[in-house]
Amino acid sequence: MRIFIFFLLLFNANFSIAETDAERATSNYFNSIQNNPKKLNVFLYDLPKGADLHNHLGGVSMAENMLRYAKQDNLCVNSQSFAVTENLNCSPTFQVAKIQHAPFLYNQVIDAWSMRNFRSGKETGHDHFFATFIKYLPILMKHRTEMVNEAVERACREHLIYLELMVMPDDNQSGLLGSHLVWNNHFDRLRQKLLNSRVVPITQEISKQLDHYQTSVQGFLNGPGKQWCPGFKLLYLYQVLREQPPTQVFAQLLTGFELANRDPRVVGINLVQAEDGKLSMRDYSLQMRMIGFLHSLYPKAKSSLHAGELVPGLVPRSGLRFHIREAIEIAHANRIGHGIDIRHEDHALQLLQEMSKKHILVEINLKSNAAILNVTGQKHPILLYREHHVPVALSTDDEGVLRTNLTEQFKMAVLNYHFSYKTLKQLIRNSIEYSFLPGASLWQTADYQHPISVCQMSLHSGKLSSCCQAFLAKNEKADSQWKLEQQFSKFEHVFLK
Ligand SMILES: [Zn+2]
Repeated sequence: MRIFIFFLLLFNANFSIAETDAERATSNYFNSIQNNPKKLNVFLYDLPKGADLHNHLGGVSMAENMLRYAKQDNLCVNSQSFAVTENLNCSPTFQVAKIQHAPFLYNQVIDAWSMRNFRSGKETGHDHFFATFIKYLPILMKHRTEMVNEAVERACREHLIYLELMVMPDDNQSGLLGSHLVWNNHFDRLRQKLLNSRVVPITQEISKQLDHYQTSVQGFLNGPGKQWCPGFKLLYLYQVLREQPPTQVFAQLLTGFELANRDPRVVGINLVQAEDGKLSMRDYSLQMRMIGFLHSLYPKAKSSLHAGELVPGLVPRSGLRFHIREAIEIAHANRIGHGIDIRHEDHALQLLQEMSKKHILVEINLKSNAAILNVTGQKHPILLYREHHVPVALSTDDEGVLRTNLTEQFKMAVLNYHFSYKTLKQLIRNSIEYSFLPGASLWQTADYQHPISVCQMSLHSGKLSSCCQAFLAKNEKADSQWKLEQQFSKFEHVFLK
């Protein structure tokens, strides 16, 4: 009885996670190597990194891999633009199938399809980046399953346990539905018209595509003698092209919300393409109102919105004043992608406080921001967000086009902002806490010091109790958080000497 009372006192609501010897040893080792890029790289590669919450399937694949996937596709490379098209009369010199035998062209194609060797001159990083996707589009449309596998394999090798991948498996069939409609501001009527057309069949087709991805990923994760990456989870965000006329954006958004309502693997939506594009700038507020309207009808579907991926000069100052705010206040975004122009928003300090209060996480993509917007070091708002207690997590954006991985994002964060090991752990825990994984959290508080009561003893001892196990079985988010803590524990144990 006395022991029971002791445990009750020990594991009450105020119970907090104390620093372990292993965590301290890891922190000390990290401090000793944080200015040594090679050792840092090894450390960060092995570090459990939780989730990548901002990752586009359309930009995930390395150019070399895409050329390999397309070997049988009768594709022809244009010698000027390096775009591929289907062409049965292609000269052998420019056939993708034979490109391995033409090293000069092969290298030109890789440079054109990615940021490799890019030097700003006539073309900006921004323009080179956004021009890549159309060049390999025929390969993307045909080889998404291989690309999903590529993304998952990379995530597993980098010790992630969750990936929230942005996809558009219907090749914008949903957007085309809207092209037959005349725009008016009656969202309700527009929605009814679209629901009476092919929105639902398209969502069913998308679900079938996702079945293919899942089967392939499962086969790959559980391949012969492999069974690696235990507990890894993959969910999707449906991505909507913002550089389209309003009826098409609305049709795609509606499809995304319907899909998230029907298929649990799709947890929400995102808007993609250049935020500084002509239609995106013209219709920004309208697009936010569309999302706000659909959010009220489909409250369970989440949204993460690219907002504020802008810098002065790229767009007029007036365009920097309201994107993040409208994404949060009108569209009810749960997370913000990039958020670079926060300093230029109207009443920026109030907005930062609001983001902190509403727990709006900002997905930070350091390599992407450096390559596309030339925003680096102190020009980047990551420290501003942290100062104002706005949660942030590191993510990759377009690993293939940017020739990067999540490890590199962590390395940039450490080298530029001197984050401690504890700060890295906080960002990593954020990546699961603010993910759209369903279910309750393992944590009671945002500082990750106070686990929920049913799992306090388990977290303290590292041994899963039956009560905690039952809780984890019902809550996918908490389950991934538990796994992450186990991974941290294993990782840190190595530094105990
Ligand atoms: Zn993005």
